Amino acid sequence: MDFDFLKDCVGKVGVELTRENCESLARYYEMVVEKNKAFNLTAITEEKDFAIKHIADSLAGISEIPQNAMLLDIGAGAGFPSMPIAIVRRDVSVTALDSTAKKMNFISECARELKIDNIKTIAGRAEEQRNLFSQFDVVTARAVSALNILLELAMPLLKVGGRFVAYKTDESELGSAKNALETLGAKHVSTKSLSLPNGDSRAIMVFEKIMPTPKQYPRLYGAIKKKPL
Ligand code: SAH
Repeated sequence: MDFDFLKDCVGKVGVELTRENCESLARYYEMVVEKNKAFNLTAITEEKDFAIKHIADSLAGISEIPQNAMLLDIGAGAGFPSMPIAIVRRDVSVTALDSTAKKMNFISECARELKIDNIKTIAGRAEEQRNLFSQFDVVTARAVSALNILLELAMPLLKVGGRFVAYKTDESELGSAKNALETLGAKHVSTKSLSLPNGDSRAIMVFEKIMPTPKQYPRLYGAIKKKPL
């Protein structure tokens, strides 16, 4: 991977990479491309596309993550945004969560190979992780589900005062998430709107958990999907 291009791309979303960061991100890219031959992880494999749409995009949210935060990434897939965050923010303790065990095994393999010890993985569904409820300062999710559904998955996992960082294209789902916000005790605090280096627009939306999640949430996934808040 071309380090100058990578640095430039990521610089445009406000993040400065060290040489060591670049080396880890480049090795991670190689591992995704290699694994992708056997197991579908992503449709984006061309180097520049990957740098922009996966790496720069994932890092666009790091300004929202407090120092030394405990962070959980719902539906991490091949590791977006969790893996670039763990590589660049060694102070953050990252947990990648996904219902597909093969994807979590892949992230664990990458972490071992890159010697990135601040990321661990859990294979399972977000709404079923009772032992993880109220444990995290930050929850992230990119390309997983509609905002009102995500809020029901994310809020229980946060401590009161913690923040859910939703990676979206724009704020259009905010209106339909109003009821979910009220019901779950969450508040929209900010949106960081930006353009990726290829012109794609992104909205990094931040929601704060302002009170404990009512006991009846989250519901089972069937109910969440059928009757989203
Ligand atoms: N965040 C990654 C992957 C997006 S694909 C990226 O941006 O590239 C969505 C992923 O969410 C899939 O891997 C799927 O297995 C996972 N997923 C969907 N619902 C989930 C849930 N309730 N709990 C855990 N993982 C979930």
